Amino acid sequence: MANEDLKRTDVNELGEFGLIEHLTEKFQLSNPSSKKGVGDDAAVIENGNMLTVVSTDMLVEGIHFDLMYIPLKHLGYKAVVVNLSDIYAMNATPKQITVSIAFSNRFSVEALEELYDGIYAACKFYNVDLIGGDTTSSPKGLTISVTAIGQGEKDKITYRNTAKVGDLLCITGNLGAAYLGLQLLEREKQIYLSNPGVKPDLEEQNFIVGRQLKPEARKDMIELFAKEGLVPTSMIDVSDGLASEIFHICKQSGVGAFVEESGVPIHPDAQLFAIKLKLDPITCALSGGEDYELLFTIDPKDIDKVKYLPDIYIMGEMTEPSEGIKLHTKGGNIHDIKAQGWKHF
Ligand code: ADP
Ligand code: MG
Repeated sequence: MANEDLKRTDVNELGEFGLIEHLTEKFQLSNPSSKKGVGDDAAVIENGNMLTVVSTDMLVEGIHFDLMYIPLKHLGYKAVVVNLSDIYAMNATPKQITVSIAFSNRFSVEALEELYDGIYAACKFYNVDLIGGDTTSSPKGLTISVTAIGQGEKDKITYRNTAKVGDLLCITGNLGAAYLGLQLLEREKQIYLSNPGVKPDLEEQNFIVGRQLKPEARKDMIELFAKEGLVPTSMIDVSDGLASEIFHICKQSGVGAFVEESGVPIHPDAQLFAIKLKLDPITCALSGGEDYELLFTIDPKDIDKVKYLPDIYIMGEMTEPSEGIKLHTKGGNIHDIKAQGWKHF
């Protein structure tokens, strides 16, 4: 056997993004209707006067969720929301979802009904239809895969690779809280496991726990953009942490970024809890993830359209690629922002 045949590369050597690139870079789109393939929050397909956008996410028990602290109803809701968030990140409106589940014999009909109660609640709130899916058994645990299909106008769909030098970098809502909620839930789980008699103490941290267990997608922001006649120059949703998402926009658009730490919105509850855990709040915002906020850039001429909008913050500017991706700290220092990347394998 030739030596090359024995080569075995660990997937961790590539990381998630490197692996996706490695597996998909050779694939060339051949249908003219495939406007955008791999590489954005959602794929984009020509559909008459409109564009159809499609996005898939999979949640695996033990990797993405732990049924010790997330109720099945919340899980169903979250599985839908994280997909809709990718559709909104294209400045499009989700219309349909498909849901596929694989589960072991540990799950009863009643348990799966609870999961679907959450799925239905999200469908109702976001006005999307459940139109299909697949059901199969699995040797262990629960896996949920949701595909979301949305619609957008041709001149309004917003990609990751279209930010320009001089554009302003904006963020909705606040960052870091979902990560801190997870830290608290994990801590209480460990305490419970070592002493099941102890009642979990969530310290009335409703805000951060809620951000972890019941995230929402920013439908309201897409509606606000439409109302204000604002089309961002690029956009991505924050699923992996601010640093990683800024990195995606910069890499794909061929620009750098200069971010003001003082412009990064962090909720006071998250701020206080981070300090309690001896974590730096800005690190939680940069590397935490699961915030499902929208990170976007605008042309500076549109500044008046966003300046007074509620829950939108201007936190930086896109720079020449040679400038890199920098954070101007509250203390006056300038640091490189590094996308931590992710390791699940
Ligand atoms: P997001 O975090 O916004 O959900 P991902 O990082 O999961 O996005 O995916 C980035 C891009 O890579 C998307 O265009 C997605 O469709 C694509 N992608 C992810 N995994 C695969 C895969 N196994 N095969 C083909 N494309 C993939
Ligand atoms: Mg995304």
